[in-house]
Amino acid sequence: MIFIKDEAIVLRSSSSGTNDLSITVFTKGFGKENIYIKGGQILKNMYLPKLQPFNWIKGVFVKYKEKTFIKEIDENVNLSYPFTKDLDKLDTALWILHIFDKFTIFNDEKLYSLLKNALYYLQFTENKYLQTYKLTFLIKYIALYGILPSFNKCVKCGVKINRKNFQEFSFKKTGSLCKKCSKNKKTDLSYEELVLTAKLLKLKFKDINKQGLIISPVLIKKFQDYLENH
Ligand SMILES: [Zn+2]
Repeated sequence: MIFIKDEAIVLRSSSSGTNDLSITVFTKGFGKENIYIKGGQILKNMYLPKLQPFNWIKGVFVKYKEKTFIKEIDENVNLSYPFTKDLDKLDTALWILHIFDKFTIFNDEKLYSLLKNALYYLQFTENKYLQTYKLTFLIKYIALYGILPSFNKCVKCGVKINRKNFQEFSFKKTGSLCKKCSKNKKTDLSYEELVLTAKLLKLKFKDINKQGLIISPVLIKKFQDYLENH
């Protein structure tokens, strides 16, 4: 039996049998884990409110016979609480959690921080920037996932891409191509969109209001499709 002090974010929670609860968390130290909580559905279980999605918990986990359990919860914050009544924000948070849960397979502390920051700073973001917020999360996620397309260099010859020599950007070819390497008239992203996405990659969640960038949901769809097809 191993005891681990760690923190985690609850991604999913589902009932198991009549009384028990099964939750999926992403921990800072050891990644994604399924945790089985005996009696988790019984109302008097003191941990029940802390084990719902969007909860950040800090406590002691136990690893025993390849299974993970929670021994105790010392600190807890519901990251969605400040915007529970704002349906647009809640919808954005659910989408972030969904993407994270669906694609994250490996253990990475940076991915953990990305999720925590994305859920935390959402409360301060003006609703007109929620699409920008989603795309910022997605691009940062894709970068940490290790499949970021090459924005600023030609994937064939390596030359630095600028407005003059830019010919096309292709998700299939995972990046930009210069005029020498491609004659293709079709492009998945325009040069302006390319500059915008490169900017979002470096943009901090807390600065999204300040930056004032508005993006089209079509861009999110394009990057989401890219992630799904990878
Ligand atoms: Zn080239």
